[in-house]
Amino acid sequence: MTIELTIFRTGAVKLARSNFTPWLAAPGRDELVECPVWSALLRTPEGLIVFDTGLHPVHVERPEATFGANPSMVITMTGEDAIVGRLAAVGVTPDDVTVVVNSHLHFDHAGNNRAFPKATFIVQGEHLAYAKGRPNFPAIYWDDPALRYMPASGRARVATGIEVVPTPGHAPGHQSLVVDLAETGRVVLCGDAAFTRANLERGEIPGEDPVAGTESLALIRSLVRDDLERAFPSHDPTTFRPGTYH
Ligand SMILES: [Zn+2]
Repeated sequence: MTIELTIFRTGAVKLARSNFTPWLAAPGRDELVECPVWSALLRTPEGLIVFDTGLHPVHVERPEATFGANPSMVITMTGEDAIVGRLAAVGVTPDDVTVVVNSHLHFDHAGNNRAFPKATFIVQGEHLAYAKGRPNFPAIYWDDPALRYMPASGRARVATGIEVVPTPGHAPGHQSLVVDLAETGRVVLCGDAAFTRANLERGEIPGEDPVAGTESLALIRSLVRDDLERAFPSHDPTTFRPGTYH
């Protein structure tokens, strides 16, 4: 049995293009676009792995539930986006999942961590320390003593053919997931190290540390040998390709 990767939508956010690609000129930069939020399921000989847990379904009825009403960033999540339902549709319950990897702990990447009480969570130790207690990493979604976090330190094996690689810039200790697929080849689930394909093409991304962000984009490009079809950015409405990969 080899690795099977399934990518599915776990929410969406409407925001101005300039949030991700600030170099755009007007009027394109101000255009509001609906950007996907997604998660991935990896079926492996060593068990089921989930990458990022998406937005919490509280946002279906109350888009402003976490950060209040903000006309420049509107959550447009549907009931179908809830991760538990998405997993059920492919025959998986949260308790079947042995490992969850969070790229980082923002609410659109760790929103459903508490749905996986049986899993081991792999997050960079540096990121865990950074996120703890910060209001822009709302604790309600992830900081639960019932959850078992295993802090990683740098590049680390998750399973055969799957490893986390630090890709800081968006936040300290941000990480991406590198997966070696039998047919597709090596893919990188970027997390917010790359919001869009354009970030990878240009080698530029806004974030807490833009210099580190540029280095991380170069690392991702080298990991996929510049075949950007094999790098999956976090929120790109144009290149988002839900589906199953082998
Ligand atoms: Zn994000």
